[in-house]
Amino acid sequence: NSDLILYVNLELVNKKSSRRYVVQEMLGQGTFGQVAKCWDAETNNYVAVKVIKNQPAFYQQAIMEVSLLRLLNEKFDPDDQHHIVRMLDFFLCQNHLCIAFEMLGNNLYELLKRNSLRGLQMKYVRTFSRQILDALIIMKDAGIIHCDLKPENILIASTVKTAAGVKVIDFGSACMEGKTIYSYIQSRYYRSPEVLLGYPYTTAIDMWSFGCIVAELYIGLPLFPGASEYDVLCRMIEIIGGQPPDDLLRDAKNTGKFFKHVGSIFPSSEARNGASSAYRILSEGEIEARDSKKPKVGRWYFPRGRLDRLIYTYPWKNLSEENLAETEKADCLALVDFLRGLVEFDPNKRWSP
Ligand code: ATP
Ligand code: MG
Ligand code: MG
Repeated sequence: NSDLILYVNLELVNKKSSRRYVVQEMLGQGTFGQVAKCWDAETNNYVAVKVIKNQPAFYQQAIMEVSLLRLLNEKFDPDDQHHIVRMLDFFLCQNHLCIAFEMLGNNLYELLKRNSLRGLQMKYVRTFSRQILDALIIMKDAGIIHCDLKPENILIASTVKTAAGVKVIDFGSACMEGKTIYSYIQSRYYRSPEVLLGYPYTTAIDMWSFGCIVAELYIGLPLFPGASEYDVLCRMIEIIGGQPPDDLLRDAKNTGKFFKHVGSIFPSSEARNGASSAYRILSEGEIEARDSKKPKVGRWYFPRGRLDRLIYTYPWKNLSEENLAETEKADCLALVDFLRGLVEFDPNKRWSP
């Protein structure tokens, strides 16, 4: 969006004093650069400064991150109530674009690891989900697609006022709805079927990722931890049942990479849910036969099986449906129902925030 970029460039003219932020320690590293915990000598506060790699492509995308965050923070969430990270400042330092953010805590993947990847209690799953949804509502209102929602990009907000809280970070891959440029987006485990298959995408892709995250918060492990895009698709089909709708498969660019057209006259025996489809997913053998060098089929590890089984009887708590208390049963039932609305193959039927 050229208007937004102009707006940002004008601000960059006012370069900040290079002595304002004193680096304390490294917080994280990503594709775009490094994030450092810094002491802000002007406000006497800790801040997180993302130092973007000094290459044109990263610079351009980071300008987009600044523009979109500014729009979200100032126009859509002026009172900081909607669980989106606050951007405090941005500046150039030795040709690196730097973005200062409010200092937040661990990301949700780190939280799950601390808990030995055994998942969180339902009350935390509920609280965090509600807060992430709140952020997603604001993003949808603003017409912004995050494009990289995953546990690593959701951080614990160590607020004094409220109890447990999270905030969505990393708008480094975000874009405006209707102005999508890239087709290779989202982290593989959280990648939506329409992105995998190369079909025009909307804010609905964030709702898919959100569903994957909610399941992971409860189970402790990713829902679709595929070793390849094909592997991710196979896991979706097994866990959810069914497959992407025929009109999506017909119009998507990459359908031929994963599916075989079997015609619409004879109902395909592979089509689940009793529905017939003109497409069936390629078998492992067919996939491997195409490319003998790269193993594309990942070894299964937990989770597998159908979604409801996964939620009811995930092994960590040694629970079976029979010895679940009534309230836990009701909670699980509600969670499965909720997840089904989110990890829905058809982006038009998928629940909006
Ligand atoms: P990715 O590879 O996911 O695109 P990235 O290069 O875009 O990463 P971020 O996701 O913005 O970078 O930040 C990388 C990591 O740094 C985060 O996962 C988080 O652990 C840490 N981090 C980022 N922002 C903050 C913050 N405001 N407070 C504390 N830690 C942060
Ligand atoms: Mg990130
Ligand atoms: Mg990023």
